[in-house]
Order: sequence, then C-alpha cells, then structure tokens
Amino acid sequence: MGKSSKDKRDAYYRLAKEQGWRARSAFKLLQLDEEFDLFSNVSRVVDLCAAPGSWSQVLSRVLIKGEKFGRSAWQDRDAKVRQQMLGVFPEAFTAEQKEAIEKETSHDAAQNGVETTAANPDVKIVSIDLQPISPLAGITTLRADITHPATVPLLLSALDPSYDPATAAGTQAQHPVDLVLSDGAPDVTGLHDLDIYVQSQLLFAALNLALCVLKPGGKFVAKIFRGRNVDILYAQLKIFFEKVIVAKPRSSRASSVEAFIVCLNFRPPAGFHASLEEPLGVGQRLDRLVKERDMQLPIVAEATMQSNRGTWDCSVKSAPATSHEGGITEVEVYDETEGNHKENGARWIAPFIACGDLSAFDSDASYQLPEDYVSLDPVQPPIAPPYKRALEMRAGQSKTTR
Ligand code: SAM
Repeated sequence: MGKSSKDKRDAYYRLAKEQGWRARSAFKLLQLDEEFDLFSNVSRVVDLCAAPGSWSQVLSRVLIKGEKFGRSAWQDRDAKVRQQMLGVFPEAFTAEQKEAIEKETSHDAAQNGVETTAANPDVKIVSIDLQPISPLAGITTLRADITHPATVPLLLSALDPSYDPATAAGTQAQHPVDLVLSDGAPDVTGLHDLDIYVQSQLLFAALNLALCVLKPGGKFVAKIFRGRNVDILYAQLKIFFEKVIVAKPRSSRASSVEAFIVCLNFRPPAGFHASLEEPLGVGQRLDRLVKERDMQLPIVAEATMQSNRGTWDCSVKSAPATSHEGGITEVEVYDETEGNHKENGARWIAPFIACGDLSAFDSDASYQLPEDYVSLDPVQPPIAPPYKRALEMRAGQSKTTR
C-alpha cells in the first residue's frame, strides 16, 4: 500500500502532515477542546503518555503562542462547497443556514482556522512518556513511567524547580496543576479483553497521578477503551469530579472502542489523600470510597423484584439532575439476593457526547484525492519506537540469510 492510499483512507492522517502535527491525535484534542473549552483558565498542564507529541504541540500552540483553532482546521470539503454555494445562490439558504455558513467562513478568513491572541509566557507544560519526545518549544519533556511513584516528585520539580518534597507535603505547592491529559495506550495485542484490561491499568495510573497533582477545580481528560464494565469506572471517577462525560471526537474512528473521559471540577472527598504508594485501583480503597459516597445519596425508589434466580431487593439512589450536563440523573442500583449483596451492582450512566459536527472529516471514510496530490512525509517520525529493535533484528536476519 502506497503512502497516498493511507492519505486517502485517513483524512486526519493527511491533514496532520499538511498542518504540521506530529500525529493525527492532535485533532482529537482540538475537537475535545472545542466541545468542552478545556483550555480556558488553564496555565499548568501535564500531558501524560505524550510521545510523539501532537497533544503537546496543541498545548504549546494554544496556551503558549495564543493560537486559536477554528473548525475549518478539520473541515471537510463539503463545508467549503457550502460557502461557495452561498456566494452563488444566496436565495437557496435560510437566514439560519446563512448565519452558520458565514461563521464557518469567518474561521477560514482567520488564517485557515487559526486566530492568534496574546502569547502567554507564564504557561508551564510538562510532557511525559516512556519513549523519548523530540523537543518542543516551551515544553519540558520527561522520559518516565507514569505507573512509577517516583514520577510524581519528578513531575512537580519539573513544574517548579524550587519544589522541595520535604517542605511541600500537604501544601498548595503539591497541587499546582490545572489540567492533566492522558492519551496513554499500551501496545495493542489484538486480544480485545487483554488490551482493554491493560488500558484500564494505564488509566488508573494516570488518574492516580492526576489526583496527586491537580488543583481543586482542575480537569482530567483520558483515553479509555469502552469495555463491558466501563460504567463502574465512570462511577469511580464521579467520586472525584463534579462532571464526568464520555466523549468521542469525530477524528476518533467510530469503528474503534476508543473514547475519552472528560472529568471536570476536581473535588476530592473530604480527608482524601492521594498517594502513589497506596494507589487507587489496587486493593479495596476505591470500593470503600464508592460505598461512602453512595451512603450520602438519597434513595428515590425502592422495589422488590422476582426472577427465576430468586427475589431481588432493589433501591435506586439519585443525585439531583442539575449536577450533570444535559440533565442526566445519576442512578445507582443495588441488588440483593438471599444473603448475597451484589457489590458490583453500582451503575451510573455517564452522558455521552460526540464532538466535532458533521462538517468535519469522517475518520472512517476514504476520500478522493486530486490527481496531482503529493503525499507528504510524517512531521516527526518516532525517535525510538518500541518496534525499533524488531526492525533491527529483522534487518540482521535478512543479512545473515543472504
Ligand atoms: N498523545 C500522543 C500524541 O498526541 O502524540 C500520542 C500518545 S500514543 C497514542 C500512546 C503513548 O503512551 C505511547 O507513546 C506510549 O509510549 C505511551 N505509554 C504507554 N505506557 C506508558 C507508561 N507506563 N508511561 C508513560 N508512557 C506510556
């Protein structure tokens, strides 16, 4: 398969090279920001699992350089056709449609969807990955494992070189971060359940790290693979954040189980102390927190149900609908069979938002490219990818068999 067939099949891969992004994932973050305004009031950011660095590039361009990306950065040609049609047949459009199209046009007028406001020198961004990240202006990059406890002090020192763990314990200096991002993914094996499990472990590592460094009111955004019991994870995240939303940007393939969990307004339970020495996701600490939180919710309905497995006592607990975007009511159901309290009965249905409207390129579609299309090279090939050794071994083998 030639380079241009991948360009055709994956519009975001092609756009990333054309616009100078190191990976197509940049569009996922831009589309998440468009929906959730992630970058407003944010000056200290940690980008976990950041290599090759396209999310860090977005952070650098938006937060440090003050650039603002409009929709036309990822818009399909249909939108451009609409703009031309409006010029030729204005009478074919309603006033509302005209307004929407003119808005799209004004983004285009601003340097292909990029407007620039004032640069902000106070911004601090630290990016971490197991793999080396090629340098990026204004960004501190660390090569570290996010699952290791030593990574937190390393990160805090990178954010503030005068940070001293001995004097900072329990102080504001330990929680300076406004936004933690994690696009972490293990090397997928193709064994679905195993991949989902390893991904969930990486997510817990990112969450534990975020809990250690986030300011109250902070935000956490992480990649998830939506597996069978993902709603338990949503309920767990809900202990720490006021809003927990599952988001699927248009640049994330619909055919993939990938989605992003957007957690807003960090508000840990009273007395909670984050620690990587006693991380959540290991042992019973998280279960205890879920139960404590459940005990505070009012019961709004109770019923006894019968099935061929016996009699079930169910109670539905609810928090006010106003606590969520979109007015979705939090519902948790506990089932009890004879002498068997079903611990995992807690279910909370997180709101799901698809971000990036239909004018954006469809990540599952193939697009016709112009005859004279020239395929570009990737902006920043990986420096030391995990498959490098395998390639070297294969090259060595083919030499010896010649
Ligand atoms: N957001 C990145 C970008 O925009 O360029 C892409 C991230 S890539 C999908 C996933 C990354 O997770 C890989 O670079 C991998 O090395 C990293 N990763 C996986 N496990 C990790 C760990 N335990 N600690 C740090 N990074 C890890």
